[in-house]
Amino acid sequence: MTQNKYALVTGGSRGIGRAVCLKLAGLGYGVIINYKGNKDAADETAEAVRMLNQPAETLCFDVADRTEVKEILGGWMETNKDKVIEVLVNNAGVRNDALLPMMSDEQWDNVINTSLQGMYNVSKLVITPMVLNRYGRIINMVSLSGIKGMPGQVNYSAAKAGMIGATKALAQEVARRNITVNAIAPGFIKTDMTADLDEKELVNMIPAKRFGTAEEVADLAGYLASKSAAYITGQVISINGGLYS
Ligand code: NAP
Repeated sequence: MTQNKYALVTGGSRGIGRAVCLKLAGLGYGVIINYKGNKDAADETAEAVRMLNQPAETLCFDVADRTEVKEILGGWMETNKDKVIEVLVNNAGVRNDALLPMMSDEQWDNVINTSLQGMYNVSKLVITPMVLNRYGRIINMVSLSGIKGMPGQVNYSAAKAGMIGATKALAQEVARRNITVNAIAPGFIKTDMTADLDEKELVNMIPAKRFGTAEEVADLAGYLASKSAAYITGQVISINGGLYS
């Protein structure tokens, strides 16, 4: 049987996104792996998806660039009308920390445009076919920072808080079409994004005394993407080892 049910994971080349791609492949989805520049990593993820006997496609586009999203993702959708994107994981994100007085306009724009505008740019394309199909799962990767606010991360906290608001609003718009929209708010997860942090010091404030793994986040995403999670929508689910949220 040809696979026609797909999951699109933005920032699927590395870290949490890669683990989510593998989880969704395990649940029976073909996977579209979006990435911004790291082709080798995206190809590795695609190969790992194929090892799970699911088709994988890599799509290179900057989620922050609306024109590029329309051209590349829109182009893929246009030429693959037989395929349906049932699951969208808005996972692409960047950190670019600075205290506000020292923050450059570029630092603000880059972080907001990747997470918040990126979520808009991609969801806008995917939502109409989902509505027509009367089924869908949207999962937005946010952060503890978007819930409690983190000093040094005014940009990142604002981007993730914006995504949380959009998650709650969109969930109410599309619930009657069997589309759920939820957000996952990780604490500290061991990936490239946290590689520069002082893990030994930071684990002291985490009740579980360790960073989480990308696979643990992917397990939660897998559940939210499953049919079993049909009645969970508009929620922000924390996964943070007990860190205050
Ligand atoms: P990561 O290891 O740094 O990976 C980031 C991924 O996003 C890569 O696949 C990267 O693609 C992609 N990406 C970045 N900018 C992009 C853009 N403009 N367009 C398309 N793709 C882009 O990050 P991670 O730790 O897995 O984080 C994944 C998500 O979880 C992010 O939204 C992050 O904010 C959130 N999160 C992470 C943590 C944590 O502790 N790690 C905690 C809370 C929330 P390339 O490989 O091509 O560069």
